[in-house]
Amino acid sequence: MGKRIKPGESGGERRDEARRQSDIGATLRRIEVKFATVFRACPDLIAITARDTGRYIEVNDAFERIMGWAKPETIGRTSAELGTWESMAERGRMIAALGDASRLENFEVRFRRKSGEVFTALISLEQVDLSGEPSLIIVARDISRRKAEEVLLRRTAEELERSNMELERFAYVAAHDLLEPCRTICSFAQMLERKHGATLDDEGREYLDFLVGGAQRMRDLIQGVLGYSRAGMAVAQMVDVEMGDLVAVVIADLGSALEVRDGAIETGTLPVVRGDPAQLRQLMVNLIGNGLKFHAEGGKPHVLVTAEPADGEWCVTVADNGIGIDQEYQDDIFGIFRRLHGPDRYPGAGIGLAVARRIVEAHGGRIWVESEPGQGARFRFTLPMA
Ligand code: ADP
Repeated sequence: MGKRIKPGESGGERRDEARRQSDIGATLRRIEVKFATVFRACPDLIAITARDTGRYIEVNDAFERIMGWAKPETIGRTSAELGTWESMAERGRMIAALGDASRLENFEVRFRRKSGEVFTALISLEQVDLSGEPSLIIVARDISRRKAEEVLLRRTAEELERSNMELERFAYVAAHDLLEPCRTICSFAQMLERKHGATLDDEGREYLDFLVGGAQRMRDLIQGVLGYSRAGMAVAQMVDVEMGDLVAVVIADLGSALEVRDGAIETGTLPVVRGDPAQLRQLMVNLIGNGLKFHAEGGKPHVLVTAEPADGEWCVTVADNGIGIDQEYQDDIFGIFRRLHGPDRYPGAGIGLAVARRIVEAHGGRIWVESEPGQGARFRFTLPMA
């Protein structure tokens, strides 16, 4: 509003006042032009509509481009007349979400183009009073491409999961069905060796040795694949598990290995964790068993199990005084059938750590190793707190 000129003002003062008014007018026009340009050129669709009737008061260029309705055929008509919503229930949903508030942000709606094509848009809107009529300034972005990409991504992930499960099932069934004939070969080869070995010449006995050794190795590998498949199946039950008690049971399980190797297992204070007791027991058998197995010739193995809280989880460490692992192979050894030594030096099928990783990951944790050759190994994994 302009300042009223008082009767006592001089001619100079009146001229100054008129210049000020004209400057304000020019500034307002510049702002208006800027806003009009932004409104017109905005790449997002903008529409100003009456809240109650949905009548279009103003739309921008992007509205024409995205919706397919030209400005002259839009302004003055309602969204119901034009059919710009997928259904009028969509508009009702938007009004309900706005409620008594004056703004609504990032709300997904379904619009219909003039061509009839329906698409998803993300809208933000502001309620304003235009000449006493409650009106909505709606800014909308066509996210149909993003939506289509999301659907494609979800389908691909589902397809991947399905084929993964099929593969796992195949590996399990194949291993399961192979085990029986393999056991038969093993036991008959052993019987043949026991009963008729003496009647064979040296060459014959050597062949039989290969046969027995090969069949046993095949049986171990198949059992390994079965164990690996089982470890990948969903965690059967998540309960509070006293790690101290669990490790005590594992130490009893490993009793003969401990005796044979003249080793020792020590534990720190161990926590209560959340997990599947059978799977966690398998995990500890594999890690502690390896700690006892991979020690230098003549040395006495020593394994220490400790735990500490870290970032809201428990971090458990199984440390040994064994041969250690070169940094180059520290990721590799968690893969199935990955071994750094021949079976004559250290027996095994190369499954233990792959199973350990599956179990830890099924519990939502991570597993890794810290080691230097000749300096022992520290296998560490995280588990949820009870
Ligand atoms: P396996 O014990 O049957 O060989 P694993 O999957 O348990 O299979 O281990 C894979 C390989 O990782 C082992 O062959 C060995 O080379 C290495 N490894 C595992 N644990 C240790 C350890 N505590 N110290 C040194 N090397 C280890």
